[in-house]
Amino acid sequence: MSIEIRKLSHIYNEGTTFASVALDAIDLTIQEYCMTAIIGETGSGKSTLVQHLNALLLPSKGEIQINDRIIKADEKPKQLKALRKKVGLVFQFPEYQLFEMTVYKDVAFGPTNLGLSAEQIHENVVAALNIVGIDETFYEKSPFELSGGQKRRVAIAGVLAMNPEVLILDEPTAGLDPKGRDEILAAIHKLHEERGITVILVSHSMEDVARLVDRIIVMHKGKVAVTGTPREIFSHPMELEQMGLAAPQVSYVFAKLKEKGYDVPTDIYTVEEARDALLKLVKQVKA
Ligand code: ADP
Ligand code: MG
Repeated sequence: MSIEIRKLSHIYNEGTTFASVALDAIDLTIQEYCMTAIIGETGSGKSTLVQHLNALLLPSKGEIQINDRIIKADEKPKQLKALRKKVGLVFQFPEYQLFEMTVYKDVAFGPTNLGLSAEQIHENVVAALNIVGIDETFYEKSPFELSGGQKRRVAIAGVLAMNPEVLILDEPTAGLDPKGRDEILAAIHKLHEERGITVILVSHSMEDVARLVDRIIVMHKGKVAVTGTPREIFSHPMELEQMGLAAPQVSYVFAKLKEKGYDVPTDIYTVEEARDALLKLVKQVKA
């Protein structure tokens, strides 16, 4: 599903003395079947933006087009059901919303609500838990017996089990230890590889998104500051810094080397690339 956002503004508490502009006339295209990251400092409008994509929030101004469906300010809640089925949103800290007695039941909740057959529900639940790396030994456990990372993977499976065409994850690694974080990222990667669906990943961690995504959207103060491939975005680490963001560590090293007059590429963002470029530089300097 392609997503077009046109002149989208969102104002919280519009018309009151507490009115605040969270999104300011945003234009944006999110490409189908791609993995896109939305990054930006806290308060830049990331969560507000993604909640428009499944119409949990409606535009104050502007519109969002998802395939042929156009969402505007005056949408009727009843007409949004079909859209919400296609666009799955995993909130930040989704594990707070686990509530069933068992892992299996929790993941089955969404597909059951969609009115699917018992076999279809079972199939979806097993497939979703499989993608996030939760095996049968967990099915009858209480979600509350699990580790933080496992809980979060169960919560993600709950959305996946509804087979959305677009999956949005709002800060899926926030607050997890490195192991939990790696497991979540591996699950998201596997999901994208296996199902090929459009994935939108909200993050403030560059190291998380650098390797994983095809495109990055940088938000700053309710506007889209810049969009591009990770390579394009990370070749300007100092500009990211001014927006309260950090680039992967190695990007800075190369920006500094360039500044000091060394003949190095400035679009390096993985450790492997950095190693190769440094070896080349050492050879040049010696020669
Ligand atoms: P991010 O996800 O990038 O941290 P948010 O979309 O949560 O940003 O917030 C964008 C702006 O909107 C911030 O200034 C925030 O304080 C404000 N905001 C977010 N949610 C609400 C709300 N429910 N009521 C009023 N203001 C809000
Ligand atoms: Mg947020």
